[in-house]
Amino acid sequence: MADWLLPTPSSRRDFLRTLSLGAGTTLAGASALASPLEWLAPARKLGVALVGLGNYSAGQLAPALRQTKFCQLTGVVTGSPAKAAQWQQQYSIAAKNCYDYQTFDRLIDNPAIDIVYVVLPNALHAEYVVRAAQAGKHVICEKPMATSVADARHMLAAMEKAGKKFSVGYRLHFEPHNQEMMRLGQGLAYGKINHLAADNGFKFGSGGTPWRVNKKLSGGGPLMDMGVYCLQGCIYTKGQVPISITAKFIPNPDPVLFKEVEAGVNWQLHFADGTVADCRTSYAENMQGRLRADAATGWFELAPAFGYGGLAGQTSDNSGKLNLPNINQQAAQMDDFAQCILQNKPTRVPGEMGLRDVQLLEAIYRAAETGQSVSTKDVVQLIDRTSAE
Ligand code: NDP
Repeated sequence: MADWLLPTPSSRRDFLRTLSLGAGTTLAGASALASPLEWLAPARKLGVALVGLGNYSAGQLAPALRQTKFCQLTGVVTGSPAKAAQWQQQYSIAAKNCYDYQTFDRLIDNPAIDIVYVVLPNALHAEYVVRAAQAGKHVICEKPMATSVADARHMLAAMEKAGKKFSVGYRLHFEPHNQEMMRLGQGLAYGKINHLAADNGFKFGSGGTPWRVNKKLSGGGPLMDMGVYCLQGCIYTKGQVPISITAKFIPNPDPVLFKEVEAGVNWQLHFADGTVADCRTSYAENMQGRLRADAATGWFELAPAFGYGGLAGQTSDNSGKLNLPNINQQAAQMDDFAQCILQNKPTRVPGEMGLRDVQLLEAIYRAAETGQSVSTKDVVQLIDRTSAE
């Protein structure tokens, strides 16, 4: 048995009883016996190594890992010796747990690192997820999971072969406002949704990280970066995967800056029951980030919908259902993944969902490039229904 699963002495009897219930009943058994948090309190928190110490790792993930209950920051992978030294000091990371991109594969020999979290420019996700799989680690990969369907499939195959858990950094699936949108939409609280609208974007200033407009590293512009949230939001609110997509690029306001990637794109998701979702993303305009559903007997919306905090929602009947607390989304997301590992249960945001979204992103680009409607009937049919259950 792995050391982190060893029960505390006081819970050993419950632990053994629960184990004997069998895989399908373990969780129910656990909650009947003791608080699952107490019962499964790991002897040590799972160790996480962040790969790529850029803005998201430094600004969000590392601080969140100070708040997690089931995992903690134990390692880093960085191309910068200066960052390695600074992070060792700031987060008390052992020097033996710091790697660069050349020594990455030695993670295989490091039991202090259970989870590798890939937070690199989009086009590098595939290589490092595959190498992490080969090192026998569980993996979280940032969005978008990959810059091509071929890469996404390759990553899934490597993770499957490794037999380790794999999820995408879709933090909003663990966020109360977005979870309530899933519940209201999928549960038909306001009847059938007839129309959805989502937008998300920002004005790409001179301070923006350059790889985001370098197609080789980003795979695309704001659609790959911010548009993913609109796509996700519409799918989890409607509770369906679209059957076709139409799209149009916005006129390019700065051909020097947006030489390789689109400045923005407007697209429509067409669902089997006739519902249309109008989505918009841009690097040429600051947007609040909105997700709205108009249904048979009312509407519900989040604005802002997709940020790290300050999310707020309204419903047509002022029900207050979207007056919810803001939480540390990244801590919730990473703790959930750690619990999926500890309890051997599936994640609500698996790699297959990442593949689904990469398939849809490719379809949006194809629709915008050709001006034709693109069928999406063959994409992975996977919806997060956890909140609606
Ligand atoms: P940054 O540019 O801030 O950081 C990326 C880091 O990757 C760099 O600091 C560097 O770290 C490393 N890196 C390795 N190779 C390269 C390279 N060739 N060019 C540039 N950087 C390189 O990006 P973000 O942190 O904003 O984004 C990283 C990933 O996280 C993206 O996939 C993005 O989509 C995703 N993201 C997700 C968010 C979410 O809310 N889920 C929010 C923001 C980003 P080092 O110096 O340590 O090697």
